[in-house]
Amino acid sequence: DTPIHVIGGGLAGSEAAWQIARAGVPAVLHEMRPQRMTDAHKTEGLAELVCSNSFRSDDAESNAVGVLHQEMRLAGSAIMAAADAHQVPAGGALAVDRDGFSAAVSERLEAHPLITVARGEVPGLPPAEWDSVIVATGPLTSPALGEAVAELTGAQSLAFFDAIAPIVHKDTIDFGTAWYQSRYDKPGPGGTGADYINCPMTREQYHAFIEALIAGEKTSFHEWEQNTPYFDGCLPIEVMAERGIETLRHGPMKPMGLTNAHKPDEKPYAVVQLRQDNALGTLYNMVGFQTKLKYGEQVRIFRTIPGLEQAEFARLGGLHRNTFLDSPRLLDGGLRLKAQPRLRFAGQITGVEGYVESAAMGLLAGRFAAAERLGMPCGAPPVTTAHGALLNHITGGHLAGAEPGGGARSFQPMNVNFGLFPPVEVPKPEDGTRLRGKDKQRARKAAMSRRALADFESWFRGLRQDAAE
Ligand code: FAD
Repeated sequence: DTPIHVIGGGLAGSEAAWQIARAGVPAVLHEMRPQRMTDAHKTEGLAELVCSNSFRSDDAESNAVGVLHQEMRLAGSAIMAAADAHQVPAGGALAVDRDGFSAAVSERLEAHPLITVARGEVPGLPPAEWDSVIVATGPLTSPALGEAVAELTGAQSLAFFDAIAPIVHKDTIDFGTAWYQSRYDKPGPGGTGADYINCPMTREQYHAFIEALIAGEKTSFHEWEQNTPYFDGCLPIEVMAERGIETLRHGPMKPMGLTNAHKPDEKPYAVVQLRQDNALGTLYNMVGFQTKLKYGEQVRIFRTIPGLEQAEFARLGGLHRNTFLDSPRLLDGGLRLKAQPRLRFAGQITGVEGYVESAAMGLLAGRFAAAERLGMPCGAPPVTTAHGALLNHITGGHLAGAEPGGGARSFQPMNVNFGLFPPVEVPKPEDGTRLRGKDKQRARKAAMSRRALADFESWFRGLRQDAAE
């Protein structure tokens, strides 16, 4: 009855310990609070929400995070049960009473006969006798453990901040204005010479854009974030704009080596480039556009870019202190560290973003570790499910690799979104009409959701771990 050790009693670690226990395996959940606090946590409760009290949309028909909620409920999630029990009114969103929510998770876990909650920091790599460990220490992993993980994986493999550029759904880009081309038509490794999507700007458009960036409302850094030496190589775009009107035109927006395919005789004054972000080719990130602009401002300002007037964003930009691994390189499909498979990772440290996504990766890590202990087979959930799509993104589906020129690493934290799901056949309307525009998008999302929930249910049933529950 050797237990599985889970380090970190946040969103991911709490869910992981719960899932392990549900499979009939003992778990020790190590939480350093209250002995040692992080800069953001204020209580000793398990699964404390450090900021907003929202789990975002609960719509499992048209929103990918709603699908993730529903899949977690199908797997008997403790996080979702506590959220449902402590819901507060929030329209279509699932928002919770944070104290009631955290207390419910704490009580449920502490009452489970197979879970031991051990208070205290794990101040480095876990002792060798812990043969199965889940590290779920989150964006504010304690420095001692963070440094040990960095040493084990290589300094470049663990980031201490994120630098997120917005990501656009490719099918919302206007290719009447935008065109495919790599700078100087150079094919990069595995590329064709037409790897980027380019959006041109005239001189007037560029100047108006720079002014909008400077005037746009920004979010501020937390006091404890201010001294993090992030910015070498990944300055926020608005900070570059403030340095001089031409700075961006000589940086990420330079027009050199690019010819507007629609107007070959007109030299663009500046160009916004987007690069493929996932193996499916459904998502493109805006190169060099990491930003602290408020979300609403990002949408407003970035939709003034020619070709992006109708853009839908899978993720908006940001810069935060955040500890996360270069997971596509380091982790296998079971969330194990390839270099030391007794260590699994879960939660935000794997490169997912958000309370729900973190808890979902805890759910998977818990089930994978339990299956290994029970000697039962446990494949990953299909990539058609929200869990599988996220897992695939962080462990394989993302196009890993460093930015040319040594800028921000290309693997950056990700929320769940439909761009991570493989394409689906949209059923034709019975009256023989053709779906278009928003109706088509709605039908596509509904079809992806139905497929996800059906596939997740059969994956979970197939685990047969419930026999031990
Ligand atoms: P956490 O929930 O942070 O859990 C990690 C736990 O590990 C903590 O309890 C910590 O005390 C413990 N720990 C750390 N090191 C050790 C150690 N060495 N030994 C033992 N215990 C340790 N997401 C949203 O969806 N909405 C938001 O509004 C939001 N706001 C955020 C605001 C801030 C300031 C930050 C930093 C993140 C925010 N996030 C938000 C992102 C993220 O979803 C949450 O941080 C989420 O809690 C991550 O879950 P986790 O389980 O990976 O980490």
